[in-house]
Amino acid sequence: MRPLFCEIRLNYLRENYQILKKIHGKKLLAVIKANAYGHGAVQCAQALHDIADGFAVAFLEEAIELREHGITRPIVLLEGTFDAKEYDLVEQYDLWTVIHQQSQLELFLAHDWRKPTTVWLKMDSGMHRTGFFPHQFAAAYTALSQSDKIANIVKMTHFSCADEAERSMTDMQIESFDLGCHGLTGEESIANSAAMIRFPEARRDWGRAGLALYGVDPTGEFSGSLKPVMRLSSRIFAERILQPHEPIGYGANFYTKRSTRVGLVACGYADGYPRNAPNETPILVKGLRTKIIGRISMDMLTVDLNDSHEGVGDEVELFGDLINVQEIADAAGMIPYEILCNIKRAKRVYL
Ligand code: PLP
Repeated sequence: MRPLFCEIRLNYLRENYQILKKIHGKKLLAVIKANAYGHGAVQCAQALHDIADGFAVAFLEEAIELREHGITRPIVLLEGTFDAKEYDLVEQYDLWTVIHQQSQLELFLAHDWRKPTTVWLKMDSGMHRTGFFPHQFAAAYTALSQSDKIANIVKMTHFSCADEAERSMTDMQIESFDLGCHGLTGEESIANSAAMIRFPEARRDWGRAGLALYGVDPTGEFSGSLKPVMRLSSRIFAERILQPHEPIGYGANFYTKRSTRVGLVACGYADGYPRNAPNETPILVKGLRTKIIGRISMDMLTVDLNDSHEGVGDEVELFGDLINVQEIADAAGMIPYEILCNIKRAKRVYL
């Protein structure tokens, strides 16, 4: 069997949830859209089921999959619905949908609800992607609140820059949100992972934690101990010694400077490891840090074994415990979200 393993440590997921819930101090949605950022939505939801206040996914199909696997906690559809027929399924599967534009609001009010339901009403406080502008928000809220189809309205917004050192954009978004909500009652939800860590004033009734739940600190400032849920590991399956001044791999973009023992690792870009991870990207061979040399191939990559005495059969950590996925993302000019979501082909092991 090809030795490429993607371990998902569900006990770490639970620990991270509890740490974040404590920081946030209020109810916390586990954001498990995009197959739980590549970790397996059903497995993650089942692992969190007895402790999570609820879950958030992007769209209806993701929510239905959870319901069909026995998830009974609240589920929020962050993108809301795409057409009128979806409201039948929102009702059938007992989901909480986000309303972020006028057409969704009108379809919601036109729907023949059998019992009053909870909706999340989204404000565009400055990201300018989805949501009602602050000056339109009260009208949308009032249209909903006057309807007998509504049980609860949770007011929400989303931040564009909560993980960036410069705080002014998030400060401005919080201010716009509060102004737009002035005089409106009910629960609120504004913090993603970075905001709940860095902006105490963003800790409202419902937090929405994604990346940090999987053990990656989006801020670089968190003093607690989030644990990486995903660990990608492989083995050295071949090795060779190259003389000085010899090229390695496609494009011959690396030349040895000295006699170099090269290890071949069973992991490539078809497994989701970033092809643009450059020479010098860190990697761990039998517990020792070394570096990638040569371009990432479809099914394999090459590492410098010179400074270690390791070889064929030795374990390699691509990221996980001692190599943070953030390091790989930084090296490759990516974000950790992309890398986690893209890991495929590796044998999944749920622990
Ligand atoms: N809330 C919304 C609306 C989102 O779209 C996302 C993720 O993109 C999150 C919360 C979670 O964000 P993070 O993974 O940065 O915690």
